[in-house]
Amino acid sequence: MKGIFEKIIDKEIPADIIHEDELTIAFRDISPVAPVHFLVIPKKKITNVQTASPQDSSVFSHIFSVIQQLALKENLAEDGYRVVTNIGEYGGQTVDHLHFHVLGGRALQWPPG
Ligand code: AMP
Repeated sequence: MKGIFEKIIDKEIPADIIHEDELTIAFRDISPVAPVHFLVIPKKKITNVQTASPQDSSVFSHIFSVIQQLALKENLAEDGYRVVTNIGEYGGQTVDHLHFHVLGGRALQWPPG
């Protein structure tokens, strides 16, 4: 069965998409926890960092280049921001499709809970 992010990739459910290319799509998180909170995901179905294969390395490098570009566009680059990827149950992953949260627009707390 198609997961929620696959439906966003296939435009079967709406999302506030801020970037799309051959390998990735980025959209605003539906429940933002910071003034700017978006997700960058691969179009390829990869569950998380732990299940990725060495063949996916180019997807990861591309995702980080997209994050750089979007951080500039969203005015996060100067003050700084955070990139988070949750893995599995203890990591707090709720959607089983690799995604990088990009959070910014305010000073963020550390450590997380
Ligand atoms: P995680 O808990 O790390 O797996 O993050 C999943 C994120 O996806 C959460 O921050 C959710 O708010 C977000 N999310 C779930 N469904 C949607 C959706 N339809 N559109 C945008 N963001 C979503």
